[in-house]
Amino acid sequence: MSRDRHARRARALLAAAWAAALLAVPGGDAAVADHRTELERADLQRLTVLVTKEQPLRPPEYEPPDLVGWRDEPYQVRAEVSTQLERLFTAAERDGAPLRVVSGYRSFQTQAEVFDYWRRRHGEEVAERRSARPGHSEHQTGLAVDVDGSSGGCYLRQCFGDTEAGRWVARHAHRFGFVLSYPPDTLERTGYAYEPWHLRYVGPRLAGAMREQDIALLEDALRGPFGSALWGALLGRGH
Ligand SMILES: [Zn+2]
Repeated sequence: MSRDRHARRARALLAAAWAAALLAVPGGDAAVADHRTELERADLQRLTVLVTKEQPLRPPEYEPPDLVGWRDEPYQVRAEVSTQLERLFTAAERDGAPLRVVSGYRSFQTQAEVFDYWRRRHGEEVAERRSARPGHSEHQTGLAVDVDGSSGGCYLRQCFGDTEAGRWVARHAHRFGFVLSYPPDTLERTGYAYEPWHLRYVGPRLAGAMREQDIALLEDALRGPFGSALWGALLGRGH
């Protein structure tokens, strides 16, 4: 076996080991299944779907099947996202960093209007960096929200990341299954500027694994031996 293949095999084994350790609970596979969330168990493909500038949703006009209203506000998210976000908001409030939702699900049509607004007002280049084309927005999955704190002044601005609320989100969101899709210094990779307010729900197991392994981007978490090990463990047969 060549050295390369040895190294690859070692990496794959390591990946399988960490994924199993991270995702397993005592009692074996049945218990793992019991501890997965509804979306982790029943809609893993959609939960982990990559939506990027290059990769649209399929079909592009996709509509989530279980949208619910967020509190009494004019925003919608998928049912499990609402439950988990409620937990996250409660924890944030308890820690003195109250949050509010400022954007949730956006349909294909709404996204077309949003992109058009940016393009007309700021031109194509800014529109591309700050917004998504219809069919290419995580907001269309019903798994993404934009949040703001109570201090004001940094509404959808990068300085939100330096507020108490922004720091709380960066530190704790993974515990509830959320990741920042557009962390600092990833413009080259994602095509988006840093968005400390944009949270994407991927489920507590995947979000926890990404934090544990210091993996910032979902596409990196799903790729290579780590990705396959993680995927297997989420499906309850990773070990
Ligand atoms: Zn957003």
